[in-house]
Amino acid sequence: MLARIAAQAGTPVFVYSADAIRSQHAALTGALAAVPHRVHYSVKANSSLGVLDVVRRLGMGADIVSAGELARALRAGFVPEHMVFSGVGKTPAELATAVDARIGLINLESEAEFATLAAIARDRGRRDVAVGIRVNPDVTTDTHPYTQTGKAGMKFGVPLDQVIPLAQRVKESAQARLVSVGMHIGSQITDSAPYRSGAEKLSGLVVQLRRAGIGSLVSVDVGGGLGIDYGCEPGLEAAAFANAVAPLAQQTGLLLLIEPGRFLVGNAGVLLTRVLYQKRSGGREFVVTDAGMNDFMRPSLYRAYHEIQVVSEAPLDFARPRSTPLAGREGGAEGLVDIVGPNCESGDYLGLERALPGAVPGALLAVLGAGAYGFGMSSHYNSRPRAAEVLVDGRRF
Ligand code: PLP
Repeated sequence: MLARIAAQAGTPVFVYSADAIRSQHAALTGALAAVPHRVHYSVKANSSLGVLDVVRRLGMGADIVSAGELARALRAGFVPEHMVFSGVGKTPAELATAVDARIGLINLESEAEFATLAAIARDRGRRDVAVGIRVNPDVTTDTHPYTQTGKAGMKFGVPLDQVIPLAQRVKESAQARLVSVGMHIGSQITDSAPYRSGAEKLSGLVVQLRRAGIGSLVSVDVGGGLGIDYGCEPGLEAAAFANAVAPLAQQTGLLLLIEPGRFLVGNAGVLLTRVLYQKRSGGREFVVTDAGMNDFMRPSLYRAYHEIQVVSEAPLDFARPRSTPLAGREGGAEGLVDIVGPNCESGDYLGLERALPGAVPGALLAVLGAGAYGFGMSSHYNSRPRAAEVLVDGRRF
């Protein structure tokens, strides 16, 4: 089917599997079955309307970080009550839009943000804005530095020692109710230990908040970040994640909120790209593809590893002479090639030093694990059009 999709939609094209999203959702909700919980899909991971439709039909809410994501989520049919609005730099206009839409939960990141929100609510005569506090629990995660968010000294969350004073301010305000405390400690986390440690800190915080007279909490939010298997290390098992965070819900008696993105869609998508040329320079062998860093930034931005496979060799009507597979790197490991894109940057690549013997001009390649932070992070850099997106559901696409 992938070759058929590439022939009809052209390349580069992202292809997503609805069934793969459904089975990840089933694994997660199955593991958390013992505790009352609600899943808010993190829209930033993949905000394609087709994907959002699959997610909404599974009964999930939406975790959004901008007015644009709010607009997309509304268009996909999510109801505002089932949305959580996160983000360290929500603009006054975005907060006003969220208040007007009656978003289910606005997660505060600072006292200054609350002052802005309270003023907006006051202008509108609102007294019932539901807010949470995103706490910075000061936990270390073993993931790429750019995707760590739960350590003290980072821009994210309210430091532990500032949470009670902020909660008191919310309580004293006439505009808002504090209904949740939460965290989001990073992304592509493959170890459950930081979740356990963050959840323990949140649990202690709930006790302190109740002692301080804050009796309005209804939920605790442990964020997203569950790591997946990209072919180089095992992902986080849903059961291990559940074992780490379920005690928080049991000890506090609060509804557990989670905000997974990558876990649901990462391995539900591939990026299809066609090989344009082969070339050799300075002892390196290159396979040049029609997808590059503007389509898929993760390799260039995070040095992320994505498995690459040959889907099919050149179609008969591909208007270029077939060349032989590259012989291999001079002085390097035999048969290894760099798969590079067309963008005018040396850091523009999809994979380095790969054994890919069928990657001849015209061949169709699949970059695996491209369902999360793929299209969403793509750009028009070099004034290139963006890739198409295709959703496969059963036998239809
Ligand atoms: N929640 C928040 C607040 C986030 O910032 C993110 C992403 O960074 C997520 C959830 C989803 O993360 P992931 O896709 O790693 O699950």
